[in-house]
Amino acid sequence: MRKKSPELQYLETLQTRTELSYQEKQQLESDRKGFSGELTIDRLTREIVPERTLMLDDLNLLADGQRVQLDKLIQIGNKLYLIDMKDYHGQYSFRGRTWYHNGKPLTHSIFSQIERAHDILARIFAEHHLTIAIVKVIVFTDPSAVIEIEDQSGIIVKYLWEYCEWLQKLCPAVQGTSLRQTRIPWQKVLQKYFVAPYRPETDFALDSRQLWQGIICPRCNNFWWQQEHYALQCKTCDYREAKETAYIRTICDYGVLYFRHNLQVSQLMEFFGEGYSKQYLRKRLAKYFVPMDLKSLQYSYQNRGEKFEYWFASEQQHFNHLKRRINWKK
Ligand SMILES: [Zn+2]
Repeated sequence: MRKKSPELQYLETLQTRTELSYQEKQQLESDRKGFSGELTIDRLTREIVPERTLMLDDLNLLADGQRVQLDKLIQIGNKLYLIDMKDYHGQYSFRGRTWYHNGKPLTHSIFSQIERAHDILARIFAEHHLTIAIVKVIVFTDPSAVIEIEDQSGIIVKYLWEYCEWLQKLCPAVQGTSLRQTRIPWQKVLQKYFVAPYRPETDFALDSRQLWQGIICPRCNNFWWQQEHYALQCKTCDYREAKETAYIRTICDYGVLYFRHNLQVSQLMEFFGEGYSKQYLRKRLAKYFVPMDLKSLQYSYQNRGEKFEYWFASEQQHFNHLKRRINWKK
């Protein structure tokens, strides 16, 4: 499953708790647009390629001290397609080895990211004596983008609609001839190089803005709840949530904003603010989170810095059960 980037999760969470700066708003909008373009390509790709096609999405690799992020890898036949997605808008052209945006030269090359990704992949494969051709593909997801490429680049460049057609043509050709895909263990080899996605050096701790405290209503973004024994009910929109889920979800929100810090009751209590139970919070931490250092005086728990939907993705069933239960008890 492709996850929202740490930056997108951070900005989305921050937006619900403080006023974003102009720059942050722009960034949030652009990250959202990028993510939605990526999801579209994921969906279309799944619809087009045969079911058992080997694919990996959104990889972060570290090799020889170099970090690289890859949007998508697809094996078709004995080739590996390295897909880079761009949500650029405006007019871009590539001529005389230079990129132009709306007529002005760009200081960076749109090709540099995929070239670098390609080189790192090629190097990893060579080290493991793995032979597989890597084909570089850039897909522009914004339908309004205009891309003109005059020079030879060795990179396949497609608009979204062209991408589908191109992929479709690629697939049946190999389906017939080699239904049993050539077994090249590229996925296994790459696994050794997986790392967590990039995060900035500092988290919200160094930000001077005040955060709105409390548990936020996921439906209407307000903070006013009617608290019952097992459930919370939003005073604004009547949304009901298991108390346990609401607490865990809010701890995750804290984790996203303070991703450089472990989870501690005292800091979390500040994040929750008045009206919430320290005792209850402490028990939920012990039940759901991984303790860090049992010997230290101040208990702390591991912070994965992810939103609830990702952090507890594997426990969805449990939380669905809690959701059903609060309605029986109503
Ligand atoms: Zn609400």
